[in-house]
Order: sequence, then C-alpha cells, then structure tokens
Amino acid sequence: MLYRPGSISVTILTCVLAASIASAQPKNVIFMIGDGMGPNQVAAAGMFTGAPMSFESLPYQGLVTTYAANAAITDSAAAATALATGQKVNNSVISLALPGDGSELTTLLEHYQAMGRDTGLVTTTYMTHATPASFGAHETSRYNTTQIAGDYLNQTQPSVLFGGGANGMSVAAAQSAGYNVVTDAAGMLALNTNTETFVSGQFGTTHLPYEVDGLGALPHLSQMTTTALDILDNDPDGFFLMVESGKIDHAGHNNDIIRNIGETIEFSNTVQSVLDWAAGRDDTLVLVTADHETGGLNILADNGPGNYPSVSWSTTGHSAANVPVYAFGAHANFITPLMNNTDFFDLITLAGIPGDLNLDGFVGISDLGIVLGSWNQSAPAAEFRADPTGDGFVGLADLNIVLGNWNAGTPPPPAANIPAPTSAGILLGLGWTLCLRRHTK
Ligand SMILES: [Zn+2]
Repeated sequence: MLYRPGSISVTILTCVLAASIASAQPKNVIFMIGDGMGPNQVAAAGMFTGAPMSFESLPYQGLVTTYAANAAITDSAAAATALATGQKVNNSVISLALPGDGSELTTLLEHYQAMGRDTGLVTTTYMTHATPASFGAHETSRYNTTQIAGDYLNQTQPSVLFGGGANGMSVAAAQSAGYNVVTDAAGMLALNTNTETFVSGQFGTTHLPYEVDGLGALPHLSQMTTTALDILDNDPDGFFLMVESGKIDHAGHNNDIIRNIGETIEFSNTVQSVLDWAAGRDDTLVLVTADHETGGLNILADNGPGNYPSVSWSTTGHSAANVPVYAFGAHANFITPLMNNTDFFDLITLAGIPGDLNLDGFVGISDLGIVLGSWNQSAPAAEFRADPTGDGFVGLADLNIVLGNWNAGTPPPPAANIPAPTSAGILLGLGWTLCLRRHTK
C-alpha cells in the first residue's frame, strides 16, 4: 500500500474530527413518555391499526424496569423522577432525594438548561401532573400542584409549557412570570414560532380530552409537540423537550381498551412527527419509553385491522411489568436489552467522552473490547454500545472513535485498570493505520 504524504495529515484530521463529533453529548434530546404504555398496549394498538406503531421501527430497543425506591409497583412521580434524574425515589416524590437528605435532584431539563439550551414540557395531562413535574419541579408530593406551578414559572422556567390548565397554573401567574399564554389550538397554531420565547399553553381546566371523544377547540398532542419543536429549534445550541402522552394511563385505570388504543395511536403519530423533524440529523436523540404499565393488560385475540382486540385486565392500578424503550439518533446505541429506569440520565449526560462506550468515565481496554466483541456485525444484533457512530454497523469508524480518544477521562481504580501503555500504543498505531487505509484506498 502506498501512502501519499500530502493526504495523511488531512486524513488524520478527518478521523479526529469524525471521532469527536460522533459521540458528543446529544445537541437535542426529545424524551417521549407513554404514561402506562406497556408492551401489550403497543401491541393492541397495532392490531387495531393493522400496522406497527411508528416507534416500533426504531433501530435500538430494549426493556426497562420500573420499581420505585419504596415499592415494587411505581407511581408516575417516582418513575418520572427516575427517568429525569437517574435516582430512585419514594412514590409520589417529585425529584427530591427521598429517601435521603431531601435535596433537589438535577433533572435532564435542568442539565440542558445549565448548558445554555432551550427546554420544553408537553403533556396531555394537566401541566402540573406528576410526569412533567418530575422534569421541571422539586416537591415532596406530586399533589402540591400550586408549588409545582411555582417551580415552573419562577425556578426552572422552561420556554414551552403545553398541557391542560388550572390545577395550580393560572393565566395571570404565567403572564406575570413573563410567559405569553394561549388557551386553545387556534391560539397556539397562530403563534409566531420564530420569535416566541416563553409560551404557556393552558388548554382547558383539567387533563385534555381523550382522542376518541374529540378535542373540540383544544390541541392534539402531535400539534403541541410540533409547535414546541418549531419554537425550541430556534436555539442554535440545541434543546431538551419532554413529551408525555398521559392518558394512555387513565384509560388503563378505567380498563377502557378503546380509549387506550386511541391515545396510543396519537402518541405514535406524535413520535412520527418528531422522527420526521429529526430525520437525517446525527445530533439528536429521540427516546420513546413509558414510566410503567397500567391495567395489567392481556391480549386474548387479534380481531383484525379496524376491530378492537379481545383483552382482559388484571388490575385498575399499575403493574410491575417492564416497559419498552425505543431509540433513534445520537447515543441511541447506549440502549441495552434490559435497562433500569435510572439509566437514561447517564446515557444522555455522562457519555460526553467520545469512545467511553461502557460509561465508566474512561476510554480504555474495556471500551475496545466492546467494539471488537461485535466486530463486523449489524448494530441491533451486536451489543448496541459497540456502534457509537449510530450507523447500524460495527466497524472501522467505531474502532477509531475508541482509539482516537484512548486514555481520555479519569482512569478507574488501579485494581480494575489495565494501563498496558505498550499495547495501547500498538493499538493506537493499528487504529490510525486502519483509518488511513480506509481513507486512502
Ligand atoms: Zn396511573
């Protein structure tokens, strides 16, 4: 093989740049939660429509445990706190260290704000309900709705707050905190999304209606979400957006399969809108998951498209079932087949070191082993983390991200560390040689 000297420095630069860009912390995160949406809720909706839900085609999928700190069966507050902060708390607690010292746990929304990025919360429940609250508030109880509204308007101040009204939120309080307030779909759709900065959508005086019952003048989840995206994507630094389909859960509590399916279909439509926005981007993570399963749903018969499946329910409460996760884009490869609901915070925030595939804060032998262990495989069949480029294949580009960042970060304790500088040097040389070969052939 002949190397043309003039091309080598350019090629190395290309490899270094590719390596640092590929694994940077996602610029945009869209965290989508189907409240109460277990695997059978997804399957039942697919039987009715005769086609999979939009998110079922996403490349990275797994299951997620949901238990709370003090209970096998979680509520939405403890589950959303785990998703938002990476910490297990007691049921009904909103992002405080309980059990523990009661301190405020940093949420993903706050983490992205601290990096100077825009944020938003969108839900079909009333705005101060447990799931959005866990991303934008800190309270000892989910039922402190007045205080939760105060946390939104005066402490965390997301740019976009779209959901049902009242229950602690008021037009006057939002306006005095600097928000433009809209109260119906027409008002929301008339917003100039290029210039709006702080918008509070207060739609009705409780949760939004079910899809199958009609929303009247109020907006659909998909409309709220695309409007939120249009506002947030004005921030050149990126954004964090949480979207909750909150009433899959309510239909589950009522053991109402018709409304359960209607909500899941609208959630699927909403995810599709988000995927259309994110298509072709490599700087955006779209996560679709649930906080817990509601109803203990069993499917007894698929009655064909257009017909509701025959089902049975085992509870009017939540169950301890694992829930599905589906992911697309930057860091989606960190999804594993079985995750804990506390894993998402680190998946998004601690994977800032390119090449640190096992998220231990250091790029070394174990990260190299992850890539080599799945060498030449398509990513969903391989260990997902082995594909930091997210191109669906484990190969040279992935190897170069590890080798190009070799020894970055803080080494783990000596007992677990295998520094082997000589072999590392050899591997680095091998990596660059492979990189050069690929780019000069
Ligand atoms: Zn519930």
